[in-house]
Amino acid sequence: MSTIFTKIIQGEIPSYKVAENEDFYAFLDINPNAKGHTLVVPKKEVDKIFDLDEATYTGLMQFSYKIAKAIEKTIPCNRIGQLVVGLEVPHVHVHLIPLNEMSDIDFRKSVKLSDEEFKDIAKRISESL
Ligand code: 5GP
Repeated sequence: MSTIFTKIIQGEIPSYKVAENEDFYAFLDINPNAKGHTLVVPKKEVDKIFDLDEATYTGLMQFSYKIAKAIEKTIPCNRIGQLVVGLEVPHVHVHLIPLNEMSDIDFRKSVKLSDEEFKDIAKRISESL
């Protein structure tokens, strides 16, 4: 069965898309730790990051780098944090999170955003690429 992220990539489940290319897809986390919290996933469905082939791993980091730069231009913050966890969704994903304080990397923290806010953030990050 496909992962929820594959369903998002294939458009079966909606997402606030930030960017995509042939191999990777970036979209806003639905339960963000902070405004602008973005997930970057390889279209290839692999559970654990270090099971990726080296080229896909490197490509994922290069794509994440571009997305992080765009988030940094869009969302006022101290810095962008990059994390890989994967305990919830078994499809490799990089979290890019605008950080101001240590609690911003605490996944128990959640910022509530309206549909309009999600759309606006995704659009502005996308336009900063
Ligand atoms: P992890 O697997 O790294 O522990 O976390 C998975 C992340 O995916 C969580 O931050 C969660 O909010 C996010 N997530 C789970 N399901 C969905 C979804 O359907 N759409 C989006 N945009 N994010 C999701």
